[in-house]
Amino acid sequence: MKCVICKSPDVEKKLVEEEIRSGPDIVILPIEVMVCLNCGERYYDRRAMKFLEDTKHKIANKEVNLSPIGKVFRPTNVVKRRKLSRTAS
Ligand SMILES: [Zn+2]
Repeated sequence: MKCVICKSPDVEKKLVEEEIRSGPDIVILPIEVMVCLNCGERYYDRRAMKFLEDTKHKIANKEVNLSPIGKVFRPTNVVKRRKLSRTAS
């Protein structure tokens, strides 16, 4: 298979970590997908998509045992750039 983004033929099945959002939390899910070794584009087949969807459901229904591996932070004292804050005066 060729990468549709960069046309590289180096597309291989690899174990990657997919981030699933669950409210304010993020669940890191290891999953095997085809990955372009040149540009990093990921290709999800039907099985991978279904696995992701099913796992999202299970997480929402609390059917998956989760253990914390880190914390998620948001900066509290970073000054917003003017360009980005259109509504602020
Ligand atoms: Zn590529």
